[in-house]
Amino acid sequence: MQPKQSIVSLPVYQPGKPIEEVKRELGLKEVIKLASNENPFGASERAKEAIQRELENISIYPDSFSTDLAAAVAARLGIERNQLVFGAGSDEVILMLARAFLSPGDETIMADETFPQYRHNAVVEGATVIEVPLRDGTHDLDAMLARVTDRTKIIWVCNPNNPTGTIVRHAELEAFIRQVPANVIVALDEAYIEYVKDEAFPDSLALMREFKNVILLRTFSKAYGLASLRIGYGAGHPDLIRMVGQVREPFNTTRMAQAAAVASLADAEFLAMCANRNAEGKAYMCRHFDRLGLHYFEAHGNFIMVDVKLPSGQAFDGLLRKGVISRANWTHYPTYIRITIGSQEQNEAFIAALESVLTEAAVLD
Ligand SMILES: *Cc1c(COP(=O)(O)O)cnc(C)c1O
Repeated sequence: MQPKQSIVSLPVYQPGKPIEEVKRELGLKEVIKLASNENPFGASERAKEAIQRELENISIYPDSFSTDLAAAVAARLGIERNQLVFGAGSDEVILMLARAFLSPGDETIMADETFPQYRHNAVVEGATVIEVPLRDGTHDLDAMLARVTDRTKIIWVCNPNNPTGTIVRHAELEAFIRQVPANVIVALDEAYIEYVKDEAFPDSLALMREFKNVILLRTFSKAYGLASLRIGYGAGHPDLIRMVGQVREPFNTTRMAQAAAVASLADAEFLAMCANRNAEGKAYMCRHFDRLGLHYFEAHGNFIMVDVKLPSGQAFDGLLRKGVISRANWTHYPTYIRITIGSQEQNEAFIAALESVLTEAAVLD
């Protein structure tokens, strides 16, 4: 068989370890997964009811244009329906952007490290990936700008950045976008925006209105708790959205996902509860990291990147044996793990497990 040259050495995505697998392998009864930034509080009850109702129509293809959901999101954001394209998670919007805009010889710029799907999809399309090191765990926008050439097609800004959790703020992002050529797309991935409390976080909708080359990527997988349904979207100028839509599969989002997303949008209370509990959990985790003398990056999403002063694979294994699944093995942060902020009970279990792993490894004195 002869696959595309670009995929010959492409790795298969390694998801966070599933709970059931860990229980089986290690003979553990209780296992908590803080590896994939999922919502520890589940999803809105209204979303579950909407899914129940939609079961009636399971044999009928979904609305290709997600009309009701588009109307709900457009109303929420104060934009038009033709400024939205929906995907099977924002992962699929990333894929569609790459498919629509990247060819062999094109360049695309991203941070290193950041969300791996930008690189993955660019590589599949045979484009040249320009990775710009983070500075103090944060996007180095000046350095990224310096790498723009006439081959550049897309610049990815993950805000908050996964895995570090850091943000770029409005003034610096606006100054950056002003200097990016108008024919280069700036993809602002805001998968965690609902968790952000920082006042200086970008007003990305205003930037998207002013700059036709800006597309926002958002998802119902994180704060809305609908990760398994696979629903997210891109928001931008109608011309840009039309181009992304040209490569969209006809029925790429399901009825249940569309219905659940509409219902979730209407449940402001659930969303606020999740964001507030997340902020409390984050404060709890940071207090304990401070007590243990561990460095962590300023975290704005629902996860924290912390230096456990051990090879991260060793910390990962130690935590796993105590029933906590974390995320490790970063390219540039060999002693850091990324941990999702869970429920208070999960956070306490994690801190206890971490403390005992670090004590056993003689990291703590
Ligand atoms: C989780 C995540 C996404 C996408 O999630 P979907 O489930 O595909 O919507 C996109 N970007 C970042 C940075 C993420 O962490």
